[in-house]
Amino acid sequence: MLYSEYTGKAIRGLNAMFLLLGRSLINREIELPLFDENAGVEQYGLLKDLLLRLLAEITDPAVPFTSAPDRKEACPVCSYRYICGTQWVVK
Ligand code: SF4
Repeated sequence: MLYSEYTGKAIRGLNAMFLLLGRSLINREIELPLFDENAGVEQYGLLKDLLLRLLAEITDPAVPFTSAPDRKEACPVCSYRYICGTQWVVK
């Protein structure tokens, strides 16, 4: 999104990937496509809207942020524990 805005290149001509940062081996297998090959522009629009909403929430000081009140219950089953650095929390 940022590259497209900065360069003026069309999104359809770009290729973005999810990176699985929790993997111990860094190779091509940590890269996953955002969409399948037949994805339409509406899927990109949904992703863009979601990202902008998340960024707005993260940067809004009126929206309070606290970690999970019960980490032992929430973190071990959460998909974000490697990003959060809470993989040490066990039930
Ligand atoms: S690992 Fe998940 S549940 Fe735990 S603090 Fe992070 S986001 Fe919240």
